[in-house]
Amino acid sequence: MINKKKALLPLPEPALKTYKGMKLPVCEPTQWGNEKKYVKKCMDTNWISSKGEFIEKFESTFAKKVGAKYGVGVLNGTVALHLALAALDIGPGDEVIIPTFTMIATPNSVRYTGAKPVLVDSELKTWNIDTSKIEEKITKRTKAIMPVHTYGHPCDMGSIMKIAKKHGLYVVEDAAEAHGAIYKGRKIGSIGDAACFSFYANKIITTGEGGMVTTNDKKLAEKMQLLKNHAFSHERHFWHKLLGFNYRMTNIQAAIGLAQTENFGRLSNKRIENAMLYNSLLKEIEEITLPPSTKGIKNVYWMYGILLKNWSKVTRDTLRYELASRGIETRTFFIPIHRQPVYKGWFKGSFPNSEYLCTNGLYLPSSTSLTEKQIRYVAGTIKEIFSKRR
Ligand SMILES: *Cc1c(COP(=O)(O)O)cnc(C)c1O
Repeated sequence: MINKKKALLPLPEPALKTYKGMKLPVCEPTQWGNEKKYVKKCMDTNWISSKGEFIEKFESTFAKKVGAKYGVGVLNGTVALHLALAALDIGPGDEVIIPTFTMIATPNSVRYTGAKPVLVDSELKTWNIDTSKIEEKITKRTKAIMPVHTYGHPCDMGSIMKIAKKHGLYVVEDAAEAHGAIYKGRKIGSIGDAACFSFYANKIITTGEGGMVTTNDKKLAEKMQLLKNHAFSHERHFWHKLLGFNYRMTNIQAAIGLAQTENFGRLSNKRIENAMLYNSLLKEIEEITLPPSTKGIKNVYWMYGILLKNWSKVTRDTLRYELASRGIETRTFFIPIHRQPVYKGWFKGSFPNSEYLCTNGLYLPSSTSLTEKQIRYVAGTIKEIFSKRR
């Protein structure tokens, strides 16, 4: 008999082989513009640290692209989440509601403040937090909801904002995967009290490592600018009234980010084009569930994820191993937070949809720069693997 808990864990990572000259990483950065030119300017002018012309320019340009008034550039997406929570005075004794189907940075950023993450299952339709299960998790300690726009598909922000308003909660969006996504005409980055972006190498906009919090709240933006820089007082240097951090972004990161942001539309729309091509090539494979697409919502397909149906004779891990031997790298979906060894004993309850996603999901090569030929090669290889096992 299969031990259910064991079956949830994916097999060890398969070794990626070069096959007939083909070796496709699951994701790599795309540099289509002024990245090199702007970085060279940092080097030539010696402005290589966390002061310099590119930081404010990147903050304001990026914030505008995502429909927000203010942007606070930081070292990475994880500290963006922590900074937003800290600036909202979330701390020990507080609770923050998050989906269990997410990346580890989401709960960890809550824990860094001393608050406790509280988990909600996701829906199978969108792979996002199930908003019908949020209210039952609200207690008098709940301070915020932190929805995650999974793989670039926006959450049901209408319901989330309504629940937050009713219960007096903050909404801090984990928008690490959703640059350019739109929820019913509103850009992701401008809906909650704050939205946190990551600019890690695989994200739609990258600075190598980097992050930003966007907000329409001037006071909150100012507080985050203060806290990210050790909370140095304006009136006296080396004088600190608040517990700050060093989360400063460098001018070099911002130089790359500004160049990327100049191509914002092209970079996010190409991800969508790639996904549409994958969809058209994979839709005839009955064993596969294609990524979510919802009317009125712009999914930017940060990663092109698919689910294998339970009855499929090819298992998710078999597919991954075969693809790796043909030069195609994939990733499993997230392992839910309630199953993480680092959170052992923290959570009660069952989260069946997150477990289904974890067991059956994987994502395919998703770089912006993928060519049509490469996508056809991936899809063709998948078709071949399924046709041999029916
Ligand atoms: C990438 C990511 C983060 C963390 O961003 P880093 O820049 O790697 O720190 C947080 N949340 C989600 C959902 C992510 O995908």
